[in-house]
Amino acid sequence: MDFHGYAIGGLSVGEEPADMYRILRTTAPRLPSDRPRYLMGVGRPQDLLEAVRQGIDLFDCVMPTRNGRNAMAFTDRGPLRLRNLQHERDAGPIEPDCPCPACRRSRGYLRHLFMAGEMLGPILLSIHNLTYYQRLLAGARAAIEADRFEEFRLGKLRGWGVEEG
Ligand SMILES: [Zn+2]
Repeated sequence: MDFHGYAIGGLSVGEEPADMYRILRTTAPRLPSDRPRYLMGVGRPQDLLEAVRQGIDLFDCVMPTRNGRNAMAFTDRGPLRLRNLQHERDAGPIEPDCPCPACRRSRGYLRHLFMAGEMLGPILLSIHNLTYYQRLLAGARAAIEADRFEEFRLGKLRGWGVEEG
């Protein structure tokens, strides 16, 4: 049917990532490439890049904010768990090149906010994770335009320490 855009839903509802990727690889290429294609409720950074590779344009997911509220920050070197003791005296930011307000504070301070039950911790980490996802997809867009998306995707997977799905 001639819709303005198309969504893939009912996917990523608890199945294994390999199954999700298999269904996505079957479904997404069948949707018209001149219309927005939306994958509902996905997901981890590696899932987003796999979906972009299959032609998906739009996402929504609770992961950046839900994980942020639980003291987990996404980074180019994989997730950071700020409740861990190793961050107690860490004066460095989550990511030095991130422009978000959380990255103007130290990991030690952010950890302190979580340990003290201060709401500012979940707020700042949610902002960082949303910034991370926006920068990730801006990078993907630029890589597509420069015709080097696969290089970009594999570089990110290496940084995260993630095997190709
Ligand atoms: Zn940040």
